[in-house]
Amino acid sequence: MKIGVLALQGAFAEHIAVLKRLNVDVVPVRLPHQLEELDGLIIPGGESTTITKLMVNYNLAHKISELAKKNFPIFGTCAGMIVIASGVANGKIEPIGAMAIKVKRNAFGRQVDSFETELAIPALGKKPFVGVFIRAPLIESVGKEVKVLAKLPDGTIVAARQDKLLVCAFHPELTDDLRFHQYFLDIISGKR
Ligand code: GLN
Repeated sequence: MKIGVLALQGAFAEHIAVLKRLNVDVVPVRLPHQLEELDGLIIPGGESTTITKLMVNYNLAHKISELAKKNFPIFGTCAGMIVIASGVANGKIEPIGAMAIKVKRNAFGRQVDSFETELAIPALGKKPFVGVFIRAPLIESVGKEVKVLAKLPDGTIVAARQDKLLVCAFHPELTDDLRFHQYFLDIISGKR
């Protein structure tokens, strides 16, 4: 399996490291032709304003949105989730609109308000998953084609799936727990 990690800005190196631990081929994607022959793409956390601008400048935005329409597997984490959303409540940002979720940026406050919390994610098994939230967005609403995967105790949606599109508001690549990435690989191979 060959997975691309969008490597324009943000936490791409950490995602690449996790994928290597899972023994898949990894391509750091900076140029449009690098999107060819991939089985899936991860869009990492970082700054969604910067990532979306660079995606346009590097001629990647259109191509990634075309791929998403063809049911190409994409996993967006944190800023990457904002990038593939269909609407962003706050901030001047144009997401590619691949997934029927509306998100709110910086929903938990500033950098100093970043936090870690144990999440129940039934799709990953019984053991809780530690969510690392760094100036994280939240999912305000989801379309009927979207399956909610995780919520905070107050009901805030923080992870979801729509067919082969997967998103989470937190940073699974910053923990030693490989289950979220493995879940994405299982979606690609049709096991999940
Ligand atoms: N605050 C960032 C944004 O709005 C997301 C933060 C992150 O990816 N950790 O793009």
